Amino acid sequence: MVRLSRRAENVLQSEIRAMTYECARVEGINMAQGVCDLAIPSSVIEGAKAAMDAGRNIYTPAEGFVELRDAIAAATQARYGLSVDPDAEIMISSGATGAFHSTAHALLDPGDEVILFEPYYGYHAASLKAMGCRVRYVRLEPPGWRVNWEALGRTINSRTRAVVLSNPSNPTGKVFRRDELERLARFARQHDLVVFSDEIYEHFVYDGLTHIPPASIDALRERTVTISGFSKIFSITGWRLGYAIAPPEVIQAATQYNDLVYVCPPAPLQLGAARGVLELGVEFYREVAREHRVKRDRFCAALRQAGLTPHRPEGAYYVMADISGVPGADDRERALWILERTGVACVPGRAFYHDDAGRNLARFCFAKKSEVLEEACDRIARLALPARSV
Ligand code: PLP
Repeated sequence: MVRLSRRAENVLQSEIRAMTYECARVEGINMAQGVCDLAIPSSVIEGAKAAMDAGRNIYTPAEGFVELRDAIAAATQARYGLSVDPDAEIMISSGATGAFHSTAHALLDPGDEVILFEPYYGYHAASLKAMGCRVRYVRLEPPGWRVNWEALGRTINSRTRAVVLSNPSNPTGKVFRRDELERLARFARQHDLVVFSDEIYEHFVYDGLTHIPPASIDALRERTVTISGFSKIFSITGWRLGYAIAPPEVIQAATQYNDLVYVCPPAPLQLGAARGVLELGVEFYREVAREHRVKRDRFCAALRQAGLTPHRPEGAYYVMADISGVPGADDRERALWILERTGVACVPGRAFYHDDAGRNLARFCFAKKSEVLEEACDRIARLALPARSV
């Protein structure tokens, strides 16, 4: 047997992938993986096809095509009033995942400490650990998932370098409020921290709330790495297209990392995304948010009918639900029980916590085609839970 690296031991299979395989085994409805089933906007497809036909198929600059960087800069200005230099402050990467990976490598050394709000997005924790960083956790509690500032203050020491937000949050759907971001700005300045803000769900915000990028808060602009991408909003998770917006020196270093690991993002697909960003107006984004709000409400109702308690999300497209009424010794057994009974896959709560605090929870992704969601809702609502107090 060859000996694996110690680093490899840190890279465990994600619970999301594990449940996806279980789901495929029973040919179930996959509400575990965060895949959006909506149709890809035709301008995105047409833009990519036109780029292929026009021979735009070879390596691109490591920071991505200027057409896409220009489109992102224009959209960022129009949406958030945030002026960004497309030549110095934007890098296209292999999904938001690649953008996080490259910028994190540009900014963090092994042994550095990074704060995550918990429950967290598992890839953030795993990829920081794989880099040799130490992850510190600040627990957010429902309802509201408001920041516990005392707990945040207690995590700080001389090695603390950064704090990571998922905003709107996967898995809770929390949308950070202006007062929280302003307080975070003071905190980050006081302790000289970088803020990584993963905004891949920026367009999925409900109930009249507004997405506020931390980079639009003056005091955070110079120390924020904004991560976003097209996987979710254009339903192209397999295209691997995302980006980072950050100060020029960070983008420069991260681009070298990008070059080393990915060489460049897929050439014609960048131009498909650019066409989509340029051609799709506010109506498109509003309609996506409206559709997902309807789906959220439909799925939360089904969970309640089954006797499971949803923590109604304000954004993104996941619901955390209390599944303590489901038979099983722990969250994994309970998630498997739900899958066996209903053919609906969810993610056990442990995927989002560093300890056993997720033992009563599971996350469901409701971004399914309407007919698939209806079927999932029927099956979940009919879940015959044994008598218990929920
Ligand atoms: N960031 C968050 C918070 C996510 O939930 C996901 C996917 O679920 C990603 C990033 C991955 O994005 P991409 O497909 O662009 O790498």
